[in-house]
Amino acid sequence: MRYRLEAGTLIVPDQDGSVIRHGQITWEGQEILTVGPLDENAPPVDQVIQIPHGIVMPGLYNGHNHAAMTLLRGYADDSPFFEWLQTHILPAEAQLTSEDIYWGTLLAAAEMIRSGTVGFADMYFEVDAVAEAVMRSGLRSWISRGLVGDDDPTRTKLQESLDWASRWRQRGDGRIIPMLGPHAPYTCDPDYLRDVAQAARAEDLGIHIHLAESEDEIHLLKQRYNKSPAEIALETGILENRVLIAHGIHFSDDDLKVLQRHLTGGIISCPVSNAKLGNGILPFQKIQDHQIPVGLGSDGAASTNTLDMFQEMKAMAWLQKVRTHEPHRFTAKDALKTATTGTASVLGSDGGILAAGHPADFIVVDGSRTHLTPEWDVIANLVYAATGADVSYTVVAGQILMAEGIITAFDESEVQHQVRDRTRRLSGGAHGGL
Ligand SMILES: [Zn+2]
Repeated sequence: MRYRLEAGTLIVPDQDGSVIRHGQITWEGQEILTVGPLDENAPPVDQVIQIPHGIVMPGLYNGHNHAAMTLLRGYADDSPFFEWLQTHILPAEAQLTSEDIYWGTLLAAAEMIRSGTVGFADMYFEVDAVAEAVMRSGLRSWISRGLVGDDDPTRTKLQESLDWASRWRQRGDGRIIPMLGPHAPYTCDPDYLRDVAQAARAEDLGIHIHLAESEDEIHLLKQRYNKSPAEIALETGILENRVLIAHGIHFSDDDLKVLQRHLTGGIISCPVSNAKLGNGILPFQKIQDHQIPVGLGSDGAASTNTLDMFQEMKAMAWLQKVRTHEPHRFTAKDALKTATTGTASVLGSDGGILAAGHPADFIVVDGSRTHLTPEWDVIANLVYAATGADVSYTVVAGQILMAEGIITAFDESEVQHQVRDRTRRLSGGAHGGL
C-alpha cells in the first residue's frame, strides 16, 4: 500500500526545525518516499488522508523505560530513591507473572501510541512476554532483560538473555532489537559486568545500564570499589559496546572525559523521574561540551507516572533553565531534537527524521486545539503547550497504529480491564491503600 498524508504543517527537525506549511508525506511499506509541499500533480496512491489542521512531526523515541511498570503506577510515590526501590518496588515485582508483564507492557504500548511515541528502549524481566506485547502493539523496541549480578552466580540468566536475543533477532521483523541489560554497577559486581561486556561483544549486542543516577550510588561505588561509575564501565569493557546510559546525572569531569573518548551510544536523560525521586538535574551543557550524545526517556511509570514524552520534553527544557538560570539555553528546538533524532541516534536508529528513505515513523498532532492557538511558533507550541493527548495519528514502520485518536492495532479497553483485574491481586503499596 502506498499512502499520502496531506496536512497543514510538517515539522522537519533535521533541518534545524524547518516547517513546511501545507505539506504532504508519502510512504510505502516501512519507508518514507517523499516529504514536501502539497503537490496537485503527485502520482496516485492507494489511500489519501487529509488533516488540514494536522501537524505532522517525527515520532518521539523513549530511550529508557520499564514498560510493564505501568502495573505499579502510583504504587509507592513520594519515597526516597533506595527506599522506593528496595522496600516497595522490588517486593511488588516479585509477585508479577509473565502474563501480568504481557498486559502491563501492552498498557504501556497503548499509552505510548496515544502520546506519540514510536519506539522505546525497555529493561525488564519475562522478556518473551515483553516482546510478544511489542509485536502485537506494532511499536519498535530495544529490549533487554534486567540482569542483577548477585542473582546470577552461574551466569544462567546471562546465557538465557543471549539465547533469547538470538531467537528474537529472527522473529522481531526488524522492530525488536535485543540488547543486554546489566541493571547497574551497584547491583552487578565488576566480574559480572566483565562477563556481560564480553558476551555483548561476541554477539554484537548493545548494552542498556543505569549509571550515575543518584549521589548515593556515587558514594556507594567509591566506598565499595574506590571507583566512579565511568571508571567501572571502562575497566570492565562495558564501553566497548554500544551503550545506553540511563540517567547519567552525577558524572565527574574526569568521567565525562572517559565517556567522550570511549562511549558509543549516549546518555538517556529522564528528567521527570530524576526530579520526582530527588536525584537531580542532568548537566546538559557540560555533557554537550564533551560531545556526548543525549537522548530522552521516561523511566518506568512507577516513578514517572506517565509515559508521555511531551511531558519529558517540557520538563527537560524547564529544568535546564532552572539549573542554568539561562532561559536561552535548551530551547524548544533543542527539546524536540533531543526527543526525536537525539534519542534515535543514541539507539543506533536513523528514525526521528521526516525525509525520503527514513523509517515511516511519525505522528500527527491536532493543531485545532484551543491551547495550540494561535500558531506564532509551532515548535514552541509542540514543546511548551501540547501534551501527548493532542496526538491523533501514530504511524510506525508504515503501519497506522492510531487513527483519529482510536488505536487500531488492538483492543485498548481489554488491556485496561486485564490490568485492573490483575493489579487487584497485588498487596502493599507505600501508603497502604489510603
Ligand atoms: Zn530505570
